[in-house]
Amino acid sequence: HKYSSEDIKKMVADENVEFLCLMFTDINGIIKNVEVPVSQIDKVLANKITFDGSSIDGFTRIEESDMLLHPDLSTWLIFPWGSEHGKVARLICDIYTTDGEPFAGDPRVNLQRIIKKMKDMGYSNFNIGPEPEFFLFNTDDKGNPTLHLNDDGSYFDFSPVDLGENCRRDIVLELEKMGFEVEASHHEVAPGQQEIDFKYEDALSAADSIQMFKLVVKTIAKQHGLYATFMPKPLQGINGSGMHINMSLFDGDTNIFDDENDKLSPIAKQFMSGILKHARALTAVNNPTINSYKRLVPGFEAPTYIAWSSKNRSPLIRVPAAKGKSKRVEMRSVDPTTNPYLAIAAILDAGLDGINSSYELVPEVKENIYEMTEEERAADGIIDLPSTLHNSLKALRKDEYVQQSLGKGLTNSFFAAKNAEWAQYQQTVSQWERDTYMPLY
Ligand code: GLU
Ligand code: MG
Ligand code: MG
Repeated sequence: HKYSSEDIKKMVADENVEFLCLMFTDINGIIKNVEVPVSQIDKVLANKITFDGSSIDGFTRIEESDMLLHPDLSTWLIFPWGSEHGKVARLICDIYTTDGEPFAGDPRVNLQRIIKKMKDMGYSNFNIGPEPEFFLFNTDDKGNPTLHLNDDGSYFDFSPVDLGENCRRDIVLELEKMGFEVEASHHEVAPGQQEIDFKYEDALSAADSIQMFKLVVKTIAKQHGLYATFMPKPLQGINGSGMHINMSLFDGDTNIFDDENDKLSPIAKQFMSGILKHARALTAVNNPTINSYKRLVPGFEAPTYIAWSSKNRSPLIRVPAAKGKSKRVEMRSVDPTTNPYLAIAAILDAGLDGINSSYELVPEVKENIYEMTEEERAADGIIDLPSTLHNSLKALRKDEYVQQSLGKGLTNSFFAAKNAEWAQYQQTVSQWERDTYMPLY
């Protein structure tokens, strides 16, 4: 939808909207919200709402802390959940500086920069279909999350209706009311683990939708007395939660990733070669937390090696058997703690580098990589994904291309935030260490 200011004012009046949520996302992928009463609508539509950027992670620029919110009118949406104080609507915003320039440190602004680069290369859309997974935990009397999972179901289980299933259905209904096209929802492999897949959208809308999705899941779970978490590996010994990213490049109605024989087109292979080339640095962006790396271990359906396959699910990239318009590649490393604006910008730009360069694409892996020996992997040119946040940050430090995909300001604030996180973790002495070493030494 493309709404004008007049359309929005009419909807505000017709629908009795009382509050406006002006939303944006910080560098850690956390949604931020400036809420204004509807009396401020003219100021909102004139892009005149300011906020103090220095209190937002990653936006800090001491010399210039006032920032402007430019609402993207196409994101207008009235929340379906009621409020005793009247209806609440949201607008997703781009951040501008007080000089009237788009703020390069805003992840959403940065994604639009990379999309423009793609368009200048002659493609119209980068379509993204995300597959977010999450866990539902029971809460205690005070409403705080416990470590008790809500069910002991498993993949595609059709168990008697339980709390989790009811909750998942409510989430799906709520998403549909908000305009999401939900393609599938199912119980995942681990107990208490759920997955909801929604239909592909162009890159910017997909990133907006992922952010909204997390909010809806958490909100509805809470109404069911459950706690939903997108933490990648909340419990050891069982599968973690990923957020696979299905992607394809379109030119108008034509899927550039498809060829006449329903095979992956040469452009798609070049795109993939770019992702594989930059995979280690991309991991810092796609898996940005300490906990992300507890998921990227062998044996739990998460990737640990940089390779591609149409046959099995152990490598970084899988090429599903889909045909025609649905021809796509699936990147399996990404997890839901990523900032989707940063992740999609970096993945897209790495793919564009593959198209512009002529990297050699390693041959497809046909066997289960988890079962290959180190020698076999080396012979096939298969290298590891970084095994810790520390290692992926080092890889990002070495990859100037991926740094420029984020831009200088975002790269600097990303390193500042993540190096601090690593240092803090590194200095934390865990119970595992005490249990293991105290009896011995
Ligand atoms: N939960 C798995 C992961 O950590 C993915 C399972 C699947 O193939 O959907 O990535
Ligand atoms: Mg899944
Ligand atoms: Mg998948």
